[in-house]
Amino acid sequence: MTAPSATASATSHLPRTLGDFQGAEPGALVLVMGGIHGNEPAGIAALERVFTVLERERPVFRGRLVGISGNLRALKTKERFLDVDLNRAWMPERMAELDTLEDGRAETREQKEILFLLRELLHDAKQGAFFVDLHTSSADGEPFACIGDTIRNRRFARAFPVPIILGLEEQIDGALLEFLNQHGLVTLGFEGGQHDSEEAIDHHEAAIWRALIGAGCLREKSLPEVARAKALLKESRHNLPHWLGIRYRHAIVAEHGFQMRPGYRNFRPLKSGEVVADDRNGEIAANYRSRILLPLYQGLGDDGFFLALDIHPIWLAVSRWMRRMNLVRFAHWLPGVNKVPGDPNALRVNRKVARWGTVELFHLLGLRKRRIYDQHMIVRRRRFDLEGPDRFEL
Ligand SMILES: [Zn+2]
Repeated sequence: MTAPSATASATSHLPRTLGDFQGAEPGALVLVMGGIHGNEPAGIAALERVFTVLERERPVFRGRLVGISGNLRALKTKERFLDVDLNRAWMPERMAELDTLEDGRAETREQKEILFLLRELLHDAKQGAFFVDLHTSSADGEPFACIGDTIRNRRFARAFPVPIILGLEEQIDGALLEFLNQHGLVTLGFEGGQHDSEEAIDHHEAAIWRALIGAGCLREKSLPEVARAKALLKESRHNLPHWLGIRYRHAIVAEHGFQMRPGYRNFRPLKSGEVVADDRNGEIAANYRSRILLPLYQGLGDDGFFLALDIHPIWLAVSRWMRRMNLVRFAHWLPGVNKVPGDPNALRVNRKVARWGTVELFHLLGLRKRRIYDQHMIVRRRRFDLEGPDRFEL
C-alpha cells in the first residue's frame, strides 16, 4: 500500500471555500482559486498550506484572503473538465443568461455556484479586490504569471519575480480571469509547473504569499515564508526575461491529430521556420523568432501551443505614459482606423490598410483585439486600466 500524496488527500472531499482569513486591519480582498481545471490540484494543496501557516502564526494582516476550489466535480475525477472547460465559459453573452440557464452540464452548475460565492464575497469589498487563478500544465517548465495588460495588473504583477506574460487573454475567450478583470478586479493567472509535481505546489504556495504582498495584506518581513517565497520564485526564473507578450495561438481541432514534436518546454527559444509540431495537413512551424509557451503534450484542450516575444521594460514605461496621457483618443487618426458609431470604447480597423505594427501600437495605447472579421477587426479600450470601480457588480 502506498501513502496518499499531499495532492490526493487534498482533493478527496473538498469544500467550495478552502479557507477564509480575515485580518484585524482593513484592506484588500484577495481571492485565490485552485483547480478550475480538475487535473490541476496543486493550487488546492498550496492554499491549504498557506491557511495553516496564517492560522498558526496570526501575523498582522490587512484585509482578507479567501481560497476557492474551482471545478469540484472534475477535481473528484482528476479530469480537466467533465462537459465543457470551466475556464472558457465566462464570455459576456453566456454570463447574461447564466442565472436562468439549465442545461444539465456539470460545469454550468459549477459556474453558478462560483458566481454566487463571488457575488457574496465582492459585495462588501470596499478596498479593492484581487483574484489569482492557479494553474499547472502538462509539460515541465519554469513557473510564470499571465495578466491582462492593464496598468493596475502590471503593478500587482511586480510582486511576482517570475516571467510575466501579457496578452494571453486576448487569444482565449471566456476565461474567468478576464471576466473578473472586466468587472474591475486586479487579476493574475499563475502557472506553477507540471501537474502532479511537488514543485508546482511549492511554486503555488510562493505565489499566494507574493499575492498577499502585492495586495498590501502582508509586509515583506511579516513571515519567513514570504521572504522564502520571493527567493524560490526568483531562483526558478533563471535567465528568462521578466516581461513577455503573446503574439500567436495555435488552435487545434481534435480530428486533425495534432502532435507536438518531442522536447519542447515553456520559454524554449525558437528559430524562424522551426518545425514544432505536425498534424494531418503536415508540418507546423513558427513563423518568426520567438519563445514557445504551453506546448500540448497530453490530455484535453484546444490550444496546441503559443508563441511569445520578449518585451523590453522601456515599452512598459512608454505605454504607461501613453495611457496616462489618454493618447488613445487620437487613435482614429491612424490610416485604416475608424470610430464605431454608438460605441465610444471601440475602434474598427481595416486590416488591409492598417500597417504592420498597428497591433503593437494598440497594445501600447491600452486597446485589445476583440473580434476579427475578414476585412477588419474591432479593438476595444480596456475598462479599469488605470483605476478600479467604486464597487463590484457581477
Ligand atoms: Zn489550467
